[in-house]
Amino acid sequence: MDNDKVEIIDYKTGSIRNLPQDDLQLNLYALVCRDYLDLIPAKLSLYFLKINQKTSVDVSNLYIDLLKNLVLNTADKILSQNFTITQESLQNCNDCCYQKICPKLPN
Ligand code: SF4
Repeated sequence: MDNDKVEIIDYKTGSIRNLPQDDLQLNLYALVCRDYLDLIPAKLSLYFLKINQKTSVDVSNLYIDLLKNLVLNTADKILSQNFTITQESLQNCNDCCYQKICPKLPN
């Protein structure tokens, strides 16, 4: 890899999984590298510690830009206190840490 390009590696202790090119977490790191740290992200990787295996995808500016729009739109909604629940967001309730205190869920 060129000296001016970086690989972003997220070390994982959990089970192996696929890494889609539009992964939100790694594209957020890539966004910070690209737009705030003057680094050129070239590769996104997950490294699974239990099995010493790495999976990688090339960085796509398209997915970084889509993620940036998502972050900015979400920030606008938070700042305007627009907390409307969508059907899509309700699909995450089973994995949510706030279930016990969430006013949106029936008890
Ligand atoms: S439990 Fe509440 S905060 Fe968590 S995802 Fe569901 S609606 Fe959102």
